[in-house]
Amino acid sequence: MNRIFWATCPKCGGNFVVAWELRHSKSRLVCPHCQWRFRVEEARALDERWLG
Ligand SMILES: [Zn+2]
Repeated sequence: MNRIFWATCPKCGGNFVVAWELRHSKSRLVCPHCQWRFRVEEARALDERWLG
């Protein structure tokens, strides 16, 4: 099974799927809706899921 998580952008509130490898990474996520860059801990919400 693969693990992913949904992140909610703190700027536009849009949701998008992110690879699990980035869950505890210091690198920034890029919102596909508004191109805002933010750290995982800055997300408005996180929804952790298992796939498969
Ligand atoms: Zn956004």
